[in-house]
Formats: sequence, C-alpha cells, structure tokens
Amino acid sequence: MPEMPEVETVRRGLNSYVKGHEITHVEIRYNDLITGDVNQFIEFVTGATITDVGRRAKFLLIHLDNGYTIISHLRMEGKYRISADPNAIDKHSHAIFTLDNGQKMIYNDVRKFGRMQLWNTDDLKNNKSIQKLGPEPLSKEFTFETLKPRIMRHHKDIKIVLLDQSVMSGLGNIYVDEVLWKAKLHPETTANHLSDKDIQNIIELSNQEMEKAIASGGSTIRSYIDASGHKGNMQNSLKVYGKEGTPCPRCGTEIVKIKVGGRGTHFCPHCQVIK
Ligand SMILES: [Zn+2]
Repeated sequence: MPEMPEVETVRRGLNSYVKGHEITHVEIRYNDLITGDVNQFIEFVTGATITDVGRRAKFLLIHLDNGYTIISHLRMEGKYRISADPNAIDKHSHAIFTLDNGQKMIYNDVRKFGRMQLWNTDDLKNNKSIQKLGPEPLSKEFTFETLKPRIMRHHKDIKIVLLDQSVMSGLGNIYVDEVLWKAKLHPETTANHLSDKDIQNIIELSNQEMEKAIASGGSTIRSYIDASGHKGNMQNSLKVYGKEGTPCPRCGTEIVKIKVGGRGTHFCPHCQVIK
C-alpha cells in the first residue's frame, strides 16, 4: 500500500500535468471504483476544470471548478498515469479522464481496491472517510498539545496506536517502524507509559521521516510508481523496515521481526527496550 509520502509524490506529479486543464471526457470501466452514482459522477466531472490536486493523509483530493472534489484513495495498487498514447490503456485501466490538451489521466488498479467519490468541496471535512482522520505530520495541527491526549488515552502497544489513523494519520507500517527505531521505543511499549519527551520525539521524528520520504519520492516496497512513472528511492534509506537479520545501524545487534497487532514489525532488541 502506498504510504503518505508516495501519495504526496503522486499529488505533485499529477498537479504538474492536470492543474488548470478541463476534463472533456470521462470513461469509467469498473463501476465499483466509484462510491455513489456512476452516471452522476461522469455528468458532474465532464466539462469541469481541475483547479488543484490536494491531499488529506492518503486521500488525493482532485478539486474541480464546479464546487466538487474527487476524493481518490489508491488503497493497495492504485496508480495514475498521464499519457496521450492509446497503448497506455490496458485491462487494468478503470477510469480514463481525457483532458483538453489531448492527454489522458488514466487510473490503473490491478487489485481493484481503490475508490473514488465525488464530494462537495466546501463540505469535505464532513466526509465520513476524512472526518475520522487524526492530525498528520507536517500540518499545523500536529503538535504536542493535540497528540499527547490522543496517544495517552490508549492502553495498547504504541505500534498499534501510531498506526491508528484516527489518532494520527499518514504514518503506515513502514514509517512507524522507522520512527520507533529512531525514538528508541519498543513497538510493544504501552502507549500511556510514554513520557512527554517520548511523545515529543515521535512528533519530531514523524515530521522528519515524512519530509525526507517526500523529498526522495517515497519508498517502492510495493509496486508503487508516481504519476510520471518514476520509482521512488526512499527504501534505500530505511533503517529497520525489511532489515530483519541485518545489523542495527546504531549498535550492530541483529534487527528482529515480530508481529504486533497482526502487522510485521521490525526493531532492534538492544536499542528499543520495553518501558
Ligand atoms: Zn540497535
């Protein structure tokens, strides 16, 4: 599943190609891609101009000049390609948006888990999926004051709490492991055992990780490719994720992989001890 930095990279890529362009034609080849009425979606989107591509956590927000926004979630394998080449369209292309410059914005999704929904732009914060999202790294709401109570009310493992998108959003499995390693916190530490300093570290390191990951175009642990077809290279700088059996870059102890809340979790048993 693409994580927030990958989605941000897709957002930037898309914006550079589609912003300011009118959508002259829409073809939906897989109706379940659209949450809500497909014909209405096509009717409202056709003829609208894309004013901007925004993002909230892992949701892409394709803003239109008619007061509506396409909320797009890539889920496991969703990808956008921009191309004028008819050969770019294949059996996994489920939505094809033709732009006024002849280019097509093609949504591909091998596993068909991705979804699109049309929503009133002024009312986005009341959309069910967006409403429940906690503050995300690099936003002005991502502060000690907002995060501390959200984290401390949980008696669960910190790994599970940080993955809970209603506590804070945007950090997925890869970056939670990286942040916990950097903060020297065992993933099974009970959330309400954390000190103020630990929480401050989590906030700071989450911001740093996201910034770094966005700058390098995200990771390509799965088959993620950005809107222009470039692969991200963040995986080269991961310290613990996927590194089981290799020495901890800090102390040399072998990185261990366990399951926490059903998710593969990587940590250093020497640097990260349970509190
Ligand atoms: Zn270590």
